[in-house]
Amino acid sequence: MQILIMPKAILQIDGNNFYASCEQMIDPSIKGKALVILSNNDGCIIARSSEARKIGIPMGQPYFKLKNKLTQLNINVRSSNYELYGDISNRLMQLLRKNCEGLEIYSIDEAFGTIKRPKGKSLYKWGKDLRALVYQNIGIPISIGIGETKVLSKISNHLAKQMQNNSGIFDIGIVENKDRYLNKVKVDKVWGIGKRMSIWLRNRGITNALELRNMPSNQIKEKYGVVGLRIQNELKGNLCIPIKDRTSDRKEICVSRSFSYPIDSLEELNQVIIKYVLIASAKLRKYNQLSSAITVFTNTNTHSKNFYKGEATGKIDIPTSDSRIILKKSLELTKKIFKPYRKLKKAGVILQKLQSNQYKQKLLFNEQVIQKEFYQERLNYIIDEINKKNGRDTINWGSSIIEKEWNPLRKKLSSIKTTDIDNIPIIYAN
Ligand SMILES: [Mg+2]
Repeated sequence: MQILIMPKAILQIDGNNFYASCEQMIDPSIKGKALVILSNNDGCIIARSSEARKIGIPMGQPYFKLKNKLTQLNINVRSSNYELYGDISNRLMQLLRKNCEGLEIYSIDEAFGTIKRPKGKSLYKWGKDLRALVYQNIGIPISIGIGETKVLSKISNHLAKQMQNNSGIFDIGIVENKDRYLNKVKVDKVWGIGKRMSIWLRNRGITNALELRNMPSNQIKEKYGVVGLRIQNELKGNLCIPIKDRTSDRKEICVSRSFSYPIDSLEELNQVIIKYVLIASAKLRKYNQLSSAITVFTNTNTHSKNFYKGEATGKIDIPTSDSRIILKKSLELTKKIFKPYRKLKKAGVILQKLQSNQYKQKLLFNEQVIQKEFYQERLNYIIDEINKKNGRDTINWGSSIIEKEWNPLRKKLSSIKTTDIDNIPIIYAN
């Protein structure tokens, strides 16, 4: 395992109430107001603004159960707008990449970064400037935790959120006596400690991060091996979990959704798969990768009596990012997984065996074929560019033009003011 010995600080950066903040950013009328975001098909509450948290609206509750209460309390409701959140996330990560030395994107709203620490100095001011820059450019609030390791930076971020006067920034790296802070952090809040492990720890009287750091290492090692030991070592300030600063390292790309109503014809399933393949292959090109295998899958409602799940995988001979080739393969596979008279509720595609397009195997040296491939590649990139500028479905393959009734229900969807030209606000000046 690689261990960095440089005097670098580890940052953990996190968008506050990210989905709610994105919605509030594009719609100032709900800024500072209680807001909840619903999951796919407007099923459950999956995110809340801090105002909604304060009122005590719980996470994960089915929307229909709380609908009346939300109306009574005048709480705003939005369907999840993943296109918007994805776009804001990309902008955030780009800005962070410019301002940090290394960056590992951890999730849609979280990243780990590294930065050199001027000898013995606090990075609070640096964090404050970064936070202001992000707010000015992206319009969403972030929290920054700073420490010697990933586990400590996570703890720092957790503490930053609790400290009222800290502007969402905390640097535990320059604190000499960390005990009084680690003492405050419950053991199940430590990064990497799952539910089972926290029960095991609690049964041994270990309730907070300080007690976990100080407990005998051999006890952890015996039960949780090197994984547990690493967490304890990181709590001690020894960097054991390195920053993975590689964006094109993903092994597969998956696009899947549940439908607003069940579908039962091959045509409909084909249309769904086509749409997902187009999204997935555009992602593939965005990350400069090629795929050489594809899986398509579908299933009925998991609670239905005759539960059915179909899955098929096929190889692609020459690794590619060409939508046309991937579409052709995926439709062959869709035929295999389709079963008539089944009410299909979900489907998806997974592009697998990904590799960088820098090492494309030129299996064919025929000039005409290479020329044709070149034009095809250009065509794909031009389509991506046009769709990026004007919205996802501006230009598309003939096979994908359809009625999209099976799209997930999103009755409370906000507009996409950052990626769709039709949604960009118009300002009139006299
Ligand atoms: Mg967050």
